[in-house]
Amino acid sequence: MRALAFDKALTFDPRRPEPIAGAGECLVRVHLAGICSTDIQITRGYMGYRGVLGHEFVGTVESGPEEWIHRRVACEINCVCGKCALCQAGLANHCRARTVLGIAGRDGAFADLVAVPVRNLHAVPDAISDEEAVFIEPAAAAWQVVKQVRIEPRTQMVVIGTGRLGLLVAQVIATHDCQLEVIGRNPKTLALCERRHLRATHVNDVARRNDRDVVVECTGSPDGLALALQLVRPRGTIVLKSTYAGTANVDLAPAVINEVTILGSRCGPFADAIASLARRELDVRSMISKVYPLERGVEAMAAAETPENVKVLLKINPR
Ligand SMILES: [Zn+2]
Ligand SMILES: [Zn+2]
Repeated sequence: MRALAFDKALTFDPRRPEPIAGAGECLVRVHLAGICSTDIQITRGYMGYRGVLGHEFVGTVESGPEEWIHRRVACEINCVCGKCALCQAGLANHCRARTVLGIAGRDGAFADLVAVPVRNLHAVPDAISDEEAVFIEPAAAAWQVVKQVRIEPRTQMVVIGTGRLGLLVAQVIATHDCQLEVIGRNPKTLALCERRHLRATHVNDVARRNDRDVVVECTGSPDGLALALQLVRPRGTIVLKSTYAGTANVDLAPAVINEVTILGSRCGPFADAIASLARRELDVRSMISKVYPLERGVEAMAAAETPENVKVLLKINPR
């Protein structure tokens, strides 16, 4: 099969062996996949991962249990044991024995076929197109933020970063009644926010007065965290939403002095993401900048790194 894999270098492999579905697993033929910042970080050494990249995708179940065959699906990325203390405690996404699609110990979805646990599957309703369904996984991650913090009508929420993750987080927060401000530096994506009637501010114009209740950091850069520490109020909360690769050299004294809660945030609820896409609450289509065939995957990954592109997709098989 065809695959885009990372092993010292990122390469398109036209003849990679097809995956074999293990016990409790099925094979999914991938239609469309999304490139995320985590994929880019992996090609710089993040997680020390080697193998087929890709964890945001939609496809059709090709082999597995009868009831799933030919169904269009999205898939949770944490493949868990179900037996360890964390799984038993209802924290399966933190399973100590887990593998993660295209990120840790398990081949991902930038390929014709991917093997996934049946328990990870979610049926995609007809109301959601393939182009929208590739956003289910990152939209679920965005939903995790509103599950982790308490949001009330007077809560001052800030999202830092108007990249592919920040735009999703901002749109999910906007479905909740609160005071939301989005901060970015890219005029193009700030304009996207304004078109969605989100209050958008250029980073140079932000009032840094430690008065916001919750700041969601979506840039993955130390500058973003430093800004968050200047915005959050005493006893407020900073949510670290994006992948931090490498070390952040940030003065944490304000976090101590202001008794700030710093909250990590990773994968989230697929059911909420699917429901909000089906209800047309999230505009993800306008985030798609380019679509490449899998054969041009190396080029697509480079395109995903440039600020003029928001989301770059890989077209792998017809629906
Ligand atoms: Zn991702
Ligand atoms: Zn486990």
